[in-house]
Amino acid sequence: IETEGLTHYYSNLCALDKLDLSVKKGELFAYLGPNGAGKTTTIRTLTGLIRPSRGRALIDGLDITERPMEAKARVGVVPQRSNLYGELTAQENLVFVAQLYGLPRAQWRTRADELLAEFDLTDRADALFATLSGGMKRRLTIAAALVHRPSILFLDEPTTGLDVQSARALRQTILRLREQGVTIFLTTHQIAEAERLADRVGIIVKG
Ligand code: ADP
Repeated sequence: IETEGLTHYYSNLCALDKLDLSVKKGELFAYLGPNGAGKTTTIRTLTGLIRPSRGRALIDGLDITERPMEAKARVGVVPQRSNLYGELTAQENLVFVAQLYGLPRAQWRTRADELLAEFDLTDRADALFATLSGGMKRRLTIAAALVHRPSILFLDEPTTGLDVQSARALRQTILRLREQGVTIFLTTHQIAEAERLADRVGIIVKG
């Protein structure tokens, strides 16, 4: 991930102020800052959800504004609030995401089942997403972000709101993904979490 002078305004408010950042392939980068610092805005610009007001961002060498489809195919995003559907089961959610990402039909179920197993959710495959515990919801949301095997994973405050045990288990999961070679960009407002997990830490305050 490379950014140059990345800037974003919400009308008059400068949420991101000329950010220069570089994250190496395979690195676990923690992006640390207080609430309102601009962390989510950074993720939204890096993943093409909002257009930066100025500056540019490269994802795996691809400009996110100029080549958004190719860049997006390389990233997975785990937002703070899950983007999965409460009225679908765990497995149906993953199959649906596989369809959205254009996986061949023959792979929908197998990829879903593979991820359910990897995230220790096989026995909850038929449970509605809405009925899962907080930790399970977060795990399934991460699984969904990995359906298309992205090389870069963005995690927005992944352990916020989880109980101590679920948070610890999730940190192990994040480290496991890093060992598999996934580049991880993780936001947090907890210094201890950044120190425990990250290869490098970036600090953002007021954009
Ligand atoms: P963080 O993720 O670090 O908590 P955000 O990127 O969410 O910070 O927010 C940065 C700043 O931008 C904050 O002052 C926030 O209130 C403001 N902001 C975020 N989203 C919007 C929006 N959609 N419209 C206007 N202001 C926003």
